[in-house]
Amino acid sequence: MQSIGDLAVSAMAQLGSESHIPAEPGDTIGEDGMLHCGVCGQKKEFRLPFNGHYVPSMCQCRRDELAREEAEKQRQQELQRVRELASYSLVDERFHESTFDHFIASAPEDQRVLRICRNYVEHFDEMLARNAGLIFYGSPGTGKTFAASCIANALMAQRVPVLVTSIVRLTANMFGDDLAELLNQMNTARLLVLDDFGAERNTEFKAEQIFTVIDSRYAAKKPMIITTNLMDFKTETDVRRKRVYDRIFEVCTPIKMDGESKRRAEGRKMRDSIRAMLEG
Ligand SMILES: [Zn+2]
Repeated sequence: MQSIGDLAVSAMAQLGSESHIPAEPGDTIGEDGMLHCGVCGQKKEFRLPFNGHYVPSMCQCRRDELAREEAEKQRQQELQRVRELASYSLVDERFHESTFDHFIASAPEDQRVLRICRNYVEHFDEMLARNAGLIFYGSPGTGKTFAASCIANALMAQRVPVLVTSIVRLTANMFGDDLAELLNQMNTARLLVLDDFGAERNTEFKAEQIFTVIDSRYAAKKPMIITTNLMDFKTETDVRRKRVYDRIFEVCTPIKMDGESKRRAEGRKMRDSIRAMLEG
């Protein structure tokens, strides 16, 4: 009967193969007698010293391929977790129509906003790495939600996990542990869009929740884009709100939206065309 030691030795002796590992087109046998990758030039095998057998070794291409597969797997998981938050999402038909194709930028002010939005999307990897967000602020109807939605839409089209929601929606029925788990899941999103910030009820409890949401995102070091009708950031005296603003402005670049109100412009266009029809 063989001892465990003998078995181990005979198992070791079987390791690897007496012949080279299968070559792919372009691969060559190098001066060292080993198979080399035709693309990166690195060794694709090495020889075991105790039996002279060949065993596979990863070249750079293969390592890159595995890293890509791993990143893709992680993205799939993130997308799935963000999709599970569908009931908190504000994505509706109007959102789907908010794309750069529909961005009419005739006024210089609108062209500037369009440029900012496009650049944000184009440089999103860096924005993500540097936790760089935006806050679109200005009077109602100036296209803040539209601008934020254009960015979110473009990134979603690239399969970036994005959550579009509002604090009102997020915290509607959330208390204690539920909220903690929800925020954890929210932070899986690579971009968080918080629409209509400041529309929350003004209570002590709500103020605490608002801070919790903003602070959680801030701590996760992931970007957020906020839209708000608020303008009183600098003059705010309420300590709780000041605390929230401080967090926001540390990570979000403010973009003032003071073009002509889009709804007003649309209304005027409509009235003009009706007038033309009536007077025609
Ligand atoms: Zn290679």
